[in-house]
Amino acid sequence: MRVAFIGLGHMGAPMSRNVLAAGYDLVVHDLRREAAADLVAGGAAWAASPRQAGAGRDVAITMLPGPQQVEAVLLGPDGLLGGLPDGAVWIDMSTSVPAVADRVRSLAGSRGIAVLDAPVSGGVTGAAGGNLQIFAGGTEGDYHRVRPLLEVMGDPERTVHVGPHGAGYAVKLMLNLLWFAQVVITAEVLTVGVRAGVDLATLRRSLLDGAAASHFLEHDVLSVLERGDFDESFAIALACKDLGLAVDLARHTGVPVEVSATVEQIYRRARAQYGDEGGQMLPMKLVEDLTSTPLRLLPPE
Ligand code: NAD
Repeated sequence: MRVAFIGLGHMGAPMSRNVLAAGYDLVVHDLRREAAADLVAGGAAWAASPRQAGAGRDVAITMLPGPQQVEAVLLGPDGLLGGLPDGAVWIDMSTSVPAVADRVRSLAGSRGIAVLDAPVSGGVTGAAGGNLQIFAGGTEGDYHRVRPLLEVMGDPERTVHVGPHGAGYAVKLMLNLLWFAQVVITAEVLTVGVRAGVDLATLRRSLLDGAAASHFLEHDVLSVLERGDFDESFAIALACKDLGLAVDLARHTGVPVEVSATVEQIYRRARAQYGDEGGQMLPMKLVEDLTSTPLRLLPPE
């Protein structure tokens, strides 16, 4: 199977390395030529444009920031769609929305070009380890055609067909919305508890032993509590993009989401305060800074 991979950032670089390591014939492209250096050294070919990347490929994967970039890569000048042969499959693994994919399907369906949305969860660690969670939306048949390729990037147990076109994007946006909401509420809860005089470790342990326990409180929050690391492997600009898309989806579906809208605003405030490239957990720093209450566990004795 001949594969093209476009978008070699935090996620796309390790994901495409796994595709190459599994023995696929790989062509790569990114706006930043240097992002492809080690892939090319490892045997991948470089394409100067998305169109060139798609030429003669059975499958093309995109891993781009969001809808604007996906639109530019697919439908812009020298776009991927113009290069893909009839009968190819395009898999968008970006966290995005169906609008561009819907246009691609209406433009290219008659050429037999199949489209899947297959966004991922698991971060840079999951991308490097080839054990991402993958949510695929599209037809069952198209999904099964590319499942072996998806399994090179994802954990087979958690690589799942979640429904028709757009379902993968929707699952991913809801996962991130729930996670970002936990970042914000956990920061508030821990800060109030600490300022009320409870030791941070005791507070966290008590919460974990009770009905409000969460995976976030058990695992993810530790990068902040133990190391003051707000996780720059996922930029807060992208988190704001995801929250904007999630709240838009709520609007399209007619669901009032007052808490989610507030979470989005808090994220936008943290982005304005700390900059686009800051980490996705910076809303915790916002609460820390506002209250002069650092949330740090002491190293074990
Ligand atoms: P990133 O910003 O690190 O990488 C994006 C890459 O796309 C960059 O290399 C950039 O140069 C390239 N690019 C942008 N516009 C382009 C264009 N027009 N043509 C060619 N290349 C272009 O982003 P990332 O963190 O790798 O995230 C990629 C996607 O995965 C996003 O949708 C993000 O929301 C999602 N995601 C990220 C993580 C994470 O932990 N970083 C986890 C899950 C999902």
